[in-house]
Amino acid sequence: MKEDYYDILGVSKSASAAEIKKAYRKKALQYHPDKNPGDAKAEEMFKKSAEAYEVLSDLNKKAKYDQFGHAAFEGGGFGGGGMNMDDIFSQFGDIFGSAFGGGGFSGFSGFGGGGQRRVKGSNLRIRVKLTLEEVANGVEKKVKVRRKVQAEGVTYKTCSTCNGRGQVTKIQNTILGRMQTAATCSNCGGSGQILDGKPGDADAQGLKISEETVSINIPAGVEEGMQLKVPGKGNDAPGNGIPGDLLVAIETQEHETLKREGDNLHHDLYISIADAILGTSKEIDAVGGKVRIKLEPGIQSGKILRLRGKGISSLNGYGSGDLLVHVNVWTPKELNKEQREFFESMQGNENFEPKPEKSDKSFFEKVKDMFS
Ligand SMILES: [Zn+2]
Repeated sequence: MKEDYYDILGVSKSASAAEIKKAYRKKALQYHPDKNPGDAKAEEMFKKSAEAYEVLSDLNKKAKYDQFGHAAFEGGGFGGGGMNMDDIFSQFGDIFGSAFGGGGFSGFSGFGGGGQRRVKGSNLRIRVKLTLEEVANGVEKKVKVRRKVQAEGVTYKTCSTCNGRGQVTKIQNTILGRMQTAATCSNCGGSGQILDGKPGDADAQGLKISEETVSINIPAGVEEGMQLKVPGKGNDAPGNGIPGDLLVAIETQEHETLKREGDNLHHDLYISIADAILGTSKEIDAVGGKVRIKLEPGIQSGKILRLRGKGISSLNGYGSGDLLVHVNVWTPKELNKEQREFFESMQGNENFEPKPEKSDKSFFEKVKDMFS
C-alpha cells in the first residue's frame, strides 16, 4: 500500500501551493543523502518526498491524484523505482530558488549527462634497485607484484543511494546562496555498484590477492629517487572501476670505480711514475664492458681523458654523456737502494724539472673548462 502523498509531506489536502513547497523543502533538507550518509530510510524518505512533491506541485497531476489516488499514475509516471536522484536534484532549482535557476546547476553538470565516473583502484608502490650499467643503457625489469584483482564469481548490484551514478548532490549554504555540488557517494565509494555476491576467498570489496609478474621498461638515464608509473598494474577497483597504477621508485647501486655526475661518468685512474714517463695502455671499467685507453709518454698527473659517448644515455633521448678518466700519478714511498741512487742522480736534472706549458693546464683550470 503506497503512502499518501499529503501524509508524506505532512500537509493537509487543502494546503496551498506555497505550503506544499515549503513542506517539501523541509523534507528535502531533512532527508538529504549527504546529511544522512548510508541511511537507507532517509534515502527512501528523500525519494518519497520528491515523488510526492512532483505530483502535488503540478496542478494537473494533483487533480488526478486527488480524484484517483495512486491508481492515477499506475503503468507510467513513477512506475517501479520512483524518481531517480537526477530527477530529484533537477527539481531543486524550483525549490531552493535562484541559486539553482538557469545556469546554477554547473556543479551538477558533471554527471548530468549520464556518464558514470569510474572509480580507480589504489596504487601499488615498489622499489627497483638498478646497477649503473642498467641505468646507463636502460633495462627491462620483471618484478613480482601482489595486486588485488577482482575475484571470479563476484556479482554487483546498482547502488541505490546514487542509483549507480557514483555521485550524490550536495546542497550547501554559502555566502552566495545555496550551492549545489556533486560529491562521491559514500555508500558505494563512487563506483555506483554494491557487492552482491562473492566467493569465500574474496575480501569485502570482492577482490583477492594475485601474484603477477609485471614487466617494467626502465629508460636509460633515470636517477635515484625518480618514480615511474606502470598504468593499470595497481590494485583493481571494485565493480566496474579501472585498476590503479604501479609506482616504481628508482634506487641506484653505487659502482665500484665509476661515479656518476649527470650523464657523465668519472673514473679515477692511478698510474705508476714509470708508466707516466714511458707511456702505457690501461684497461678501465666502462658501462657495458671494459675499454682500453692509451696513455702517451710524459702524461701529467691531473690530466683528464674524455671518452665521448661512454657515459649515460640521456633520459630525454638525446645522446649520451662522456666517461672522464682522471689520471693520477702514484708516487712511490719506498725505494730500494738502486732506485734511490737513480732518483738522487736525477734531482736537479733538467728533464726532471717541472716546465708546465700552457697546454698543461692546472687542475682548477681544467675543472673550470669542464663545467663551462
Ligand atoms: Zn552509490
